[in-house]
Amino acid sequence: MKVVTREDEELLLELLNTTPVVDGESTDELADPDSALAWAAAHGGAGSSGEIARLRRVRAALQDVIRGAGDAQLLEEHVERIALRPSFHAGALTWELQAPADERLAARVLLAWAAIDERAPGRIRPCANPACCRFLHDRSNANTARWCSMALCGNRFKARRHYQRTRKPADGSTGSS
Ligand SMILES: [Zn+2]
Repeated sequence: MKVVTREDEELLLELLNTTPVVDGESTDELADPDSALAWAAAHGGAGSSGEIARLRRVRAALQDVIRGAGDAQLLEEHVERIALRPSFHAGALTWELQAPADERLAARVLLAWAAIDERAPGRIRPCANPACCRFLHDRSNANTARWCSMALCGNRFKARRHYQRTRKPADGSTGSS
């Protein structure tokens, strides 16, 4: 009876991560019409201007909510035209998403976020690197993930910390992690 699939969860994170800071510059994968079309097409969308505009508005609202800069009420206007219709397929109840074509992708993103937030609040969070602006979905048992990716931010941060530590006068500790 699942409403949200793993694919929807990945779509959510990928949308949140279309505005990374790269080499100190804020970027937006959905700002340029060609790259927005490519992004939408790669995620099962049509790439219409209405669809892209909807995705960008939903993305901004969700990023605010996740960063704690806005209330979840911000999302209300984006779910007004979404409906879920139950039906039986092969003896099992399934939920069919009903939304205007331009709003389907954004609707899946919103439902995925709501499902994760209800099941495991705080599991979608901003990367701990303030100069990154990506988000992560922590699926670990310990719930201690801090980086959007070890390769992009974790290793860089650790390298910097190691550099700072080895440059400082010895403080008696010799451990390295
Ligand atoms: Zn990061």
